[in-house]
Amino acid sequence: MDLETIIGLEVHAQIATQSKLWCACSNDDFDAEPNMLTCPVCLGYPGALPVLNKKALEWGLKTALALNCSIPEVSKFDRKNYFYPDLPMGYQISQYDEPISVKGRVSIVIGEDKVEKEIGITRLHLENDAGKLMHEGEWSLVDFNRSGSPLMEIVSEPDLRSPEEAKAYAEELQKILQTVGSSEANMYKGQMRFDASVSLRPVGESKLYPRAEIKNLNSFRSLEAALHFEIRRQRALWEEGNPPDRETTVGWIEEEQRTQMMREKESAADYRYFPEPDLPPLKLEKAMVEKLKAELPELPAVYRVRLRDEFGLSDEEAEIAVSNPNLGRFFEQVAEATGEPKQARTFVFSVLLSHLKEDSIDVSRSKVQVEHVVHLITAIQDGKISASVAKEVLEETYLVGKDPLVIIQEKGLEQVSDADELERICDQVIAENEKIVEDYKNGKERAFGALIGKVMAATKGQANPQMVTEMMRGKVGS
Ligand SMILES: [Zn+2]
Repeated sequence: MDLETIIGLEVHAQIATQSKLWCACSNDDFDAEPNMLTCPVCLGYPGALPVLNKKALEWGLKTALALNCSIPEVSKFDRKNYFYPDLPMGYQISQYDEPISVKGRVSIVIGEDKVEKEIGITRLHLENDAGKLMHEGEWSLVDFNRSGSPLMEIVSEPDLRSPEEAKAYAEELQKILQTVGSSEANMYKGQMRFDASVSLRPVGESKLYPRAEIKNLNSFRSLEAALHFEIRRQRALWEEGNPPDRETTVGWIEEEQRTQMMREKESAADYRYFPEPDLPPLKLEKAMVEKLKAELPELPAVYRVRLRDEFGLSDEEAEIAVSNPNLGRFFEQVAEATGEPKQARTFVFSVLLSHLKEDSIDVSRSKVQVEHVVHLITAIQDGKISASVAKEVLEETYLVGKDPLVIIQEKGLEQVSDADELERICDQVIAENEKIVEDYKNGKERAFGALIGKVMAATKGQANPQMVTEMMRGKVGS
């Protein structure tokens, strides 16, 4: 049976504010003891009142603008009512029918042919996170540190057609959030999570069939794997003539690599949404939105193209720079200061990056500074050192943080470009290798390389190869 896959994603990302969405408690729970970052507001005490975190709103709006969303002048917050032990208020403050942003789009590039595809964004809205349940033996424990943390929920249109597209879209979103700075979007710290909706339909039909929503996927890998599994499961149902007839919510069991039915999917009516009475509607001034838009940094889609066009980076290098903006900036500074983007590519994206990867550290924490690499490249340009010596020097700088010029001097690595000195060595090599010289004169072109090799060996590789070649040609004839 010819079936088409329809996927939509909801992405929750923790906003990188210092405090929570409705109170002044710290938003950094990574190493905190359980229940230390709480107050009456985020513990849901009766009578405690929420106050909107302005910074969280600004980050939400900036991200929405980066996703090409439009920002309505008026939006509001709503209560989404449900009971769960990690939700002390008995409701979540979210946005239902009037979110802060609607109708955006993101471009993704798929497959080896690099086909570009646009994915619609339905909305980005703000809401608070719940606490965290931990199950230990017979006990269930609850930690409210994350209760009230600010989240952006980014909802896509059902435009994705395969797990690969879903992954590419999620990865692009992560890069956009990190570039904007609105979220660290660190999957390991749980700062970015996905709910994926999947359904199938016969090719050629345009209606949507009941979907399964896979909850709380917390890595790109599990997103892809869960989608593949769910597609296979639904395909089998279609082929039995028994396609899904109701919407369901399923969980992903990582250990067994399968989804499991949790419940019939809730509809909006189940949540009894109503306007949040403790928060007034939000009226946004155009000038504020324009200001935020003007503050947006260069976004990944534009940055990639510029890196390729301006500096000749490969697709892979551009992608590294996009997902590692510090390294990208480091490279740009080196390339601009030396006017040698090609050398800058070699030293930043191969030599330096391989060390950074090995030690898993960011370039901002490395001992190598922009000016170090600039000095190194300038030394090559000036004929002081060869490119291969330069690589060794950079490794030393990486380890001890010394300026390459100091290392070159201390270790006497400077290329021998002194004509008299080279002349003397050439004469000596000729005198000691009569046989090779004769072979060369008898037409053995390879013997010439051997003579050059002897000079290089005598200078421990430091002779300026161009000068040696010219000199030797002059002496033994060409
Ligand atoms: Zn609090």
